[in-house]
Amino acid sequence: MRLSVIGCGYLGAVHAAAMASIGHEVVGIDVDERKIASLSRGEAPFFEPGLTEILTEGIASGRLSFTTDMAAAAGAKVHFVGVGTPQQKDGYAADLTYVNAAIDGLLPHLSPGDIVAGKSTVPVGTAAGLAPRVHATGATLVWNPEFLREGWAVQDTIDPDRLVAGVPDADSDGEAANILREVYHPAVAKGTPFIVTDYATAELVKVAANAFLATKISFINAMAEIAEVSGADVTQLADAIGHDARIGRRFLGAGIGFGGGCLPKDIRAFSARAEELGRGESVGFLREVDAINLRRRERAVEITVSALGGAVFEKKITVLGAAFKPHSDDIRDSPALDVAVRLHGLGASVTVTDPAAIENARRAHPQLTYVEDRDEALRDADAVIVVTEWDEWRRDLSPEHASTLTAGRILVDGRNCMDAAAWRAAGWTYVGMGRP
Ligand code: NAD
Repeated sequence: MRLSVIGCGYLGAVHAAAMASIGHEVVGIDVDERKIASLSRGEAPFFEPGLTEILTEGIASGRLSFTTDMAAAAGAKVHFVGVGTPQQKDGYAADLTYVNAAIDGLLPHLSPGDIVAGKSTVPVGTAAGLAPRVHATGATLVWNPEFLREGWAVQDTIDPDRLVAGVPDADSDGEAANILREVYHPAVAKGTPFIVTDYATAELVKVAANAFLATKISFINAMAEIAEVSGADVTQLADAIGHDARIGRRFLGAGIGFGGGCLPKDIRAFSARAEELGRGESVGFLREVDAINLRRRERAVEITVSALGGAVFEKKITVLGAAFKPHSDDIRDSPALDVAVRLHGLGASVTVTDPAAIENARRAHPQLTYVEDRDEALRDADAVIVVTEWDEWRRDLSPEHASTLTAGRILVDGRNCMDAAAWRAAGWTYVGMGRP
């Protein structure tokens, strides 16, 4: 099928390449000329495992192309819209400027029978607001939220755990949903749940899922706060409650909390939208979820200061990580960088290393020192703090090796991902989050 993908960021670039890899003819469109130039050369403009391979293959096959010209969308059967919906500068609500601009830019190139499939995460009610403009062209608007995880985006796009299609009331024969089923044919053929809903439900499914995940992380981080004042170990607590199948162990990793381009802005946009709808109190707990999350970054700083004897001024601290999570170079609202910046603000000499995110981090926070080589970054450090759980240290850094590089023997584990017993046995002061 001929497809267009409007917005070629983390979501859209992966979506375009993944759709070409399952046999569609895809044009990716973005207003960012540099991004389009890079994608057209088969170079992923960000780090995402497997993306370069499917980009190169898609371009070589002739099925995948990229352009800044919206007119290239003409002739496609389905137009996916995956532009950004960031937090507004002066409030919690989502900024829908880019969604509106993308839809307006697309309208002149639509033909009757086309499908416009919104993939951006939007406040409930957005699709109903956009639908009349789309439907006036004879095309149909569906909302098809995206659940991909950065770091697993290619796999999640081709083989998602569920597909959701929000369709207009008038689509009683399910035609629009059937076209989406054709688009996602490999997943549909293997029996992936395909849930057809109204617009509002599809929009809410996405924000509810993110609200739940954020709540789960902040729940365990709240338990970490209690563990800290009671002498309990939150990692054992998480293991023990996680054995209950109703609870589950995933997303119960206590540490410096969540970040990235989705969870923080999505829970805030959800709160803002609920307030507009007169039901702010229904998701009032999300403010608490946000507050707990932000407190953990400060707590990691406090722990580091205290481990260094009460002051970090002129102490050399190596920060292991910059990306908001491993397998990504995304530093949007990264707790890792936030901790690094705060320590720098307290006068520490901060050296940051990260396998993928240094370039992005340097652009956002040029005041920090960045070193690509992990061992070079560790050299002469008074203390080391783990803020992103990359395998490069979680799995591959032994305390014995680190001891040959650092000046001090203090490890603050902001992700509770290092082997506490092994580091202690090697003579290090190990401090985790919510652990004695
Ligand atoms: P991003 O900032 O990486 O990409 C957005 C892209 O849209 C940019 O390349 C930008 O240049 C482009 N754009 C803006 N206005 C445009 C226009 N008028 N026409 C064409 N292109 C335009 O953002 P992202 O992380 O890809 O997120 C996009 C949407 O997907 C957001 O709503 C986000 O919440 C949602 N989402 C993201 C993820 C994720 O893991 N990144 C997962 C699920 C959902």
